[in-house]
Amino acid sequence: MNKAEKNVVVIGAGPAGAAAAYYLQKDGYEVTVLEKESFVGGRTHGYENEQVRFDTGASFFTNFYPLLKELVKKLEIEDEVIELERRVGLKYNEQIAEFKFGSFRSFWNLPFIEARDKWIMLWNTIKLSLQRGKLDLVSPDKLAAIDDESIADWATNSMSYKIYHFLIKPGVEPFWYFSCEDVSRAMTTVLQARAADAKFYTFKHGMARISEKLLENCKVHLNANVNAISVNGNVEINYSTKEKTEKIKTDYLVMATPATVSSKLLNSQLNNPLGTFIKSQKYVHNIHAAYLIDEGEISGFHAYYYPCGDWNTPIGAIVFHKLKCPESIKAPHGKELVSIYLLDEPSKAIINSNKNDHEIMNEVWEMACDFLPKLTKIKENVTIIKRREAIPLHEVGRYKQANQLKNESLGKIFFTGDYLSCATVEGGLRSGRWVASKISNKEITF
Ligand SMILES: Cc1cc2nc3c(=O)[nH]c(=O)nc-3n(C[C@H](O)[C@H](O)[C@H](O)COP(=O)(O)OP(=O)(O)OC[C@H]3O[C@@H](n4cnc5c(N)ncnc54)[C@H](O)[C@@H]3O)c2cc1C
Repeated sequence: MNKAEKNVVVIGAGPAGAAAAYYLQKDGYEVTVLEKESFVGGRTHGYENEQVRFDTGASFFTNFYPLLKELVKKLEIEDEVIELERRVGLKYNEQIAEFKFGSFRSFWNLPFIEARDKWIMLWNTIKLSLQRGKLDLVSPDKLAAIDDESIADWATNSMSYKIYHFLIKPGVEPFWYFSCEDVSRAMTTVLQARAADAKFYTFKHGMARISEKLLENCKVHLNANVNAISVNGNVEINYSTKEKTEKIKTDYLVMATPATVSSKLLNSQLNNPLGTFIKSQKYVHNIHAAYLIDEGEISGFHAYYYPCGDWNTPIGAIVFHKLKCPESIKAPHGKELVSIYLLDEPSKAIINSNKNDHEIMNEVWEMACDFLPKLTKIKENVTIIKRREAIPLHEVGRYKQANQLKNESLGKIFFTGDYLSCATVEGGLRSGRWVASKISNKEITF
């Protein structure tokens, strides 16, 4: 880097932008973050009113998120970390089975599959866990070699149809909402390798906490919506706040927005292979609707319900927040806060319809009652989050491409985000640190 070029603007204050800003500022750069929302955290943001608080997007992290773990220590927020319940209800048509992640006994007692399939799954899981060191959920370079077929094809062909539907799919779709038929097996192999010791955590005040802490000492402009970028020697950025339109010049620009936003803002300039990759990114839709119900209604319930098997349901997941972790949310005394997440296709159909939020919330609750008939019709609507760009689709071949493009930039414009690694908070953070290393031209180890 030219020593005089010390200004960096980061657009987007999600985990990727926050990590990039944190590491660059620590390395002596003058960093300015522009964020269009009134809060930082991006898709890890929570919803809060007088009655409730809960995460609307990312809601947990795991023991195989090494950078997040390292940052929690460095930022001294270890006492804010809470371990989550891992027991779920797996639902297949009318049947519900209890399943505990990481428990051999719970796996062995699962009623939907026969002993032969359990042995096959066990053998494959042991084989994969022995290769753990070579796998990493968010590193395209480690996953490129196994980025060759979809989760559905891989699981069905290498194990069995039932293992795919009853064990693999419920470990993926309730978390990412896409269809396993559309997504590379690379990410699943890592999940399976970590299945035996997987642990889940959250922060007391929500998942946006990590971005808030990373940006604590950075210059952040909230409500700053970037609407144009021009490159003539220097990079010039136009953004509008509530009051006015501003212009800012910078030596380096970090685009830490979803790929679709980068694509729109830089369209005509995205003409190298990295640009083509950015323009080609697709995202899955997601509806997350939240309700309050009487706590008395949920006696004997599990904290989570996930579909499994080869049946058609619009439900991705149902979460009962107090059962899951009362310390990480806010809800009125005597009430339970319930979140319903829909899969990609039904979310897309509803988001593209002309229905208003009230109608959609009633429709989603009906779907939840069909899925889980123990739920009564009585509920109080809290809020609905409709995302057209919830999760970047991890198509087959995508890790290979990301790996080939990892050292590319567009002159002084650099790109970061979960779409370049894996749709997780760890993916965003690692991609943010990587871009900081590229700009400062050295491996960042602090
Ligand atoms: C419903 C849901 C559940 C999830 N669950 C989990 C989970 O449990 N665990 C997990 O690890 N991950 C989860 N994820 C994924 C995780 O949230 C993302 O992978 C992560 O937030 C990606 O970080 P990012 O910084 O790349 O993008 P984002 O978090 O999307 O941040 C991008 C930022 O750019 C800003 N921006 C966009 N356009 C502009 C503009 N024009 N001007 C200025 N700013 C702009 C946005 O407002 C946003 O703040 C979930 C995601 C969703 C949607």
